[in-house]
Amino acid sequence: MEITKRKIDLTCPVCQAKSTIEIPEKIFAQKQFGSIKIQVPPGAVCPDHQFIVFLDTKGLVRGYEKIDILMGAPTEKGEREKIFKGKLNLNQLINIFGLYGVFSLVHSKFFGYHAYIIRENISEEFKNQINNFLNRITQNQYNTAKNIEFIAETDYNQITLKNTNALLIDAHNNIMQTPWEEKLSFEELLVKKALEIFNPEEQIVLIQQDINNFLKEVNYTVKILEDVKEIYDTDLIDSMQHDLKISKIGKTRLNLIRNFIMRNISEDLGNKIQNKVQEFLSSL
Ligand SMILES: [Zn+2]
Repeated sequence: MEITKRKIDLTCPVCQAKSTIEIPEKIFAQKQFGSIKIQVPPGAVCPDHQFIVFLDTKGLVRGYEKIDILMGAPTEKGEREKIFKGKLNLNQLINIFGLYGVFSLVHSKFFGYHAYIIRENISEEFKNQINNFLNRITQNQYNTAKNIEFIAETDYNQITLKNTNALLIDAHNNIMQTPWEEKLSFEELLVKKALEIFNPEEQIVLIQQDINNFLKEVNYTVKILEDVKEIYDTDLIDSMQHDLKISKIGKTRLNLIRNFIMRNISEDLGNKIQNKVQEFLSSL
């Protein structure tokens, strides 16, 4: 069966180069997932940059998100299949799912979301390798990572997810649905730092270190929250910077810590963090 495609005009969000890419029409025919994120690899619109484009079901561009990591074009499909044999590492995972696919998978594992990947003819061994690799790098004492499930159905209108509040990546690495709103800048930084190292085992150690640093901040925040009725985000940041000797904690980082606490530890604790600016604005 011939796949009909639709031409979409894109502008690189980094260098403003313009080009047209082709997207399978069936993405727009589905209604249940709404807007989708397409991973645009380097070479597709301009030679150097890769990014995410948000498309609605009419095919209109709703926004772009840059990915600040330099990487060559993805490996050809034949090469990609050889990967399934050896021991899985970070670079291979990126080759298989794209950078943004990997950020999304790491995010879903670490924050305890369900995740589904549409893919045909995948061996049990390979499924286990993917899950084990991601479990290993996101391991923590607060949640048990949920198993990524694989769906062989390629007709989007026939897909029913057991958990609808989940990540869904299709066979072409388009992100059909994410259960979160936030940008994946934490995961982007994890991967970026790890890719500066060549040794796959050292890459894992580095990611685990960053995850553990984040967990230390989570731990600290939980202890503070247990002892107060409520606390301003700015006060929390001040004491965290002082006690943990961290030079700068931004609001984005604190929001991520709060999200983690609310999803994996306690919603009540997370709700104790008050936004100072918002309170000030609403009192005007
Ligand atoms: Zn560009």
